[in-house]
Amino acid sequence: MPKVFNWQINREMEYPYEAAPPKQQFAAVFDTNKCIACQTCSMICKNAWTSGRGQEYMLWNNVESKPYGGYPQQWDMQALSLLGPQTWEGNAYSGKTLIEAAMTGTDGRPVVGYTPDSMEWANPNLGEDEAAGLIETGTFFGMPHPVWSFYLQRVCNHCSYPACLASCPRKAIYKRQEDGIVLVDQERCRGYRECVRSCPFKKMMYNITTRVSEKCIACYPRVEQGLQPYCTVGCIGRIRVNGWIHAPQEADLENPVDFLVHGRKVALALYPQFGLMNNIYYVPPIHVPAGYLRQMFGPGVERAIEAYRRAKDDPEMLGVFMLMGATERWIEKFRVIGDDAIGYDAKGDEIARVPLKEPVHIRPNYDSSRLVFRHNTP
Ligand code: SF4
Ligand code: SF4
Repeated sequence: MPKVFNWQINREMEYPYEAAPPKQQFAAVFDTNKCIACQTCSMICKNAWTSGRGQEYMLWNNVESKPYGGYPQQWDMQALSLLGPQTWEGNAYSGKTLIEAAMTGTDGRPVVGYTPDSMEWANPNLGEDEAAGLIETGTFFGMPHPVWSFYLQRVCNHCSYPACLASCPRKAIYKRQEDGIVLVDQERCRGYRECVRSCPFKKMMYNITTRVSEKCIACYPRVEQGLQPYCTVGCIGRIRVNGWIHAPQEADLENPVDFLVHGRKVALALYPQFGLMNNIYYVPPIHVPAGYLRQMFGPGVERAIEAYRRAKDDPEMLGVFMLMGATERWIEKFRVIGDDAIGYDAKGDEIARVPLKEPVHIRPNYDSSRLVFRHNTP
C-alpha cells in the first residue's frame, strides 16, 4: 500500500492511493467556546441542501453536546473503540490509524468502521445540554467547574485522505483538484454504503429514495463565487471562518486559517488519530478537563488553550476572531492595522473591517429622562 505523509500525526501512514494534493484545500476553523447551540447552522444547511425526499433524517451540519450527545448516537465512542489503543510519542502518533487497523482485520475491507442503524440516526439532539456529571442543588458556576459540557459543531471534514474515498469499490468519491472538496459522483454510486461504514465521523449518508450516498458539499457553488458556506455565514455565535489550509512549512500567516492552525496553534483537528488529515479545525473549549480533550484533539490541546487564553493580549489573534462572521465573502488574507482587523479577498480588495474592541456603554444607574432606576437583577 502507498505511504503518504500526514502532518497532523507527524508521520507517514498507509493509504490505498498515492498522495494527490489539490491546488488548494478547503478548510475551516470553529471556535467551540463561542457556540450557543442555536442550530441556525444546521437549519440553514437543511433548508439549502437536504429538504428533499429521502433526506428527512439528514443533517449535513449538526451540533451536538459533549460528552453525551452524538449524531448518529455515540459515533465517536464506537469509532474509538474500533480503533483500539491510541498512543502518542510527543507529537507523533504511535498507534494505528483506521486504515492501518484494517490491515490486520479479516474482512478484507480497507477501513475499520461500522454502519449505524436507523435508530442511531433518529434522534440528532439526544444528549443536548446534558452535563458530564450531577450538579448539586444550590451550587453555582465558578471556573473551573467539575461539571461541564460543550457544543461540538460537525460537518464533513473534506479530509485530505478520506476514509469514504478509500473504501468506495466503485471509485465514485473524489476530491476536487481546484479546492479539495470531497464529493460523491451520483451517477457512479451504486449505494453499497461502504463509505457510510468507513467514515468515522459519519458524515456520509444514504438516501433511501435515490439509493445513492450523499454528503456535505461544502456549499461549493458558493465557494466558486468567493463566498463562504451557508453554515459559516448564518452562524449566530460568529464562531466560524473558512479558508485555505497549507502544510505547516508552506503556511501563509496572513491567511486566517493558516494563522490559527499553524501560526498560533490554537485550532486543532478532531481525532487526528483516525489518520484522515481532516480539514475542519476546532478551538478547544477552555473549561473542559485536559484528559478528555487530549483524546479528542491530540497532544497539542493544552498549548492551544493557553494560546486562546492570551487572545485578548494578541491583536492579530483577536483580529481573526473578530473577523469571524463579519462578511459572507471568503477572506483570503487579513491584517491588523491600528485598532482594526481588515479582511481582503483574492484580488486584495478590502471586504471587511471590524474594531478589535467593541465600545462598551455603561448606562447610568438613574435615567433622569424616564425618572427610573435601572439595575441588574441577580
Ligand atoms: S469526514 Fe467522512 S465523509 Fe467527509 S471526507 Fe472525511 S471520511 Fe469522507
Ligand atoms: S449557528 Fe453558530 S452558534 Fe449557532 S449552533 Fe451553529 S455553530 Fe453554534
